[in-house]
Amino acid sequence: MTSIYDRLGLAPIINASGSVTRLGGAILPDAVLAAFLDGNQRAVPLEQLQAVASRVIARITTAQAGLVTCGSAAALTLGAAAILAGLDPGRMERLPDTTGLRREFLVAREQRNGYDHAVRAAGAKLVEVGFNEIVGNAGVRRTELWEYEAALTPDTVGILFNQSPHSRPTLPEIVGFARMHSLRVLVDAAGELPPRDNLTRLIATGADLVCFSGGKAIRGPQSTGILCGRKELIASAALQMLDNDDHPELWDPPADYIDRTQLAGLPRHGLGRAMKVSKEEIVALVAALELFASGAYDVDRERHLNWLEQIAQSLEGLPVVCHLRDPGDGQSLPKLELELDASWGDRRAAAFAACRHLRHGNAPLYPPVYPGHGQLDQGILVINPFCLRADELAPLITALQHTLTHPPRH
Ligand SMILES: *Cc1c(COP(=O)(O)O)cnc(C)c1O
Repeated sequence: MTSIYDRLGLAPIINASGSVTRLGGAILPDAVLAAFLDGNQRAVPLEQLQAVASRVIARITTAQAGLVTCGSAAALTLGAAAILAGLDPGRMERLPDTTGLRREFLVAREQRNGYDHAVRAAGAKLVEVGFNEIVGNAGVRRTELWEYEAALTPDTVGILFNQSPHSRPTLPEIVGFARMHSLRVLVDAAGELPPRDNLTRLIATGADLVCFSGGKAIRGPQSTGILCGRKELIASAALQMLDNDDHPELWDPPADYIDRTQLAGLPRHGLGRAMKVSKEEIVALVAALELFASGAYDVDRERHLNWLEQIAQSLEGLPVVCHLRDPGDGQSLPKLELELDASWGDRRAAAFAACRHLRHGNAPLYPPVYPGHGQLDQGILVINPFCLRADELAPLITALQHTLTHPPRH
């Protein structure tokens, strides 16, 4: 079937990597796409729409309030901006200049990653604590709470915490420590869904702000994310993102979302104005969040499992060992690991070559295929079924059969 991309002269690929940003994220469910189109057709004031979205996010996450951002990375920037500026319009106007403000965020050295650029962009200064000894191959210990305590200064304002099931100290421990020292906790949980109960569990720790991606498992538009947490911080983040080109005499945001009486004045466009979200994206994200939270996506698991089993069967007799990895929680997606066997010699080099071969495609037999590339170092290609379409299964199998026969068949 020809798509708009064909008409533009760009061949669509088969995405076997999951909802990764560089391949365009999730395919929107019909109801989400319908919300996007419907949402486009009428006009609404965006601060009122964000207030409505906030109520849905609050109901689903149990946070006091929420904001639809343009991705989890923008949620990190706006969350940091909210912590740095509070409800002070003068500070909002100055960001990212934080000279003279409390601006230090503690972060475990082992939790640093490319996304913390988003926090620094608000003017926050990251202060690393602890070591990364296990990766550094010189120890067995993780970051410990006393190391956070030892790094406190009068300028410490918050903690940046990257949530994963393996994070140490744990989020409840970090929140307990932060409470003792009046620090804010900003949690990056962008990819921590499923499990669904993380929607409520992370907020329940008392964390001040939590960020989720809207374009990953939630299957909202790729350019959406969620910032949820304390009401006055969400109000600050919203004020710094919304378009504030109005007369103060007329400006009338929903009082339960942005309480004007707490503000010295109407701020001008803030740091987040460059990260605006459209009404279509907001309503589509809300629709997707409701679907995700309802468990509506769980039915896809059986279909995905069946596809992966078919792929594994189709590779029998080829020099590859298939491992079906099913997290078995009824929510997380299964994946298929294709481990090149010893006959390939240098399995790492062979896996990179196979990945390159697949990405190249072989028209008209099969289009470019992008398998998961996270385990190439171990000689493993991963098939993630999250973004696969039913009509892509047959060409995907052909592509894998051609590539995993060595030398690859052209
Ligand atoms: C995906 C991801 C992000 C970025 O989320 P976007 O919604 O793409 O902006 C940030 N942090 C982590 C850990 C992620 O996995």
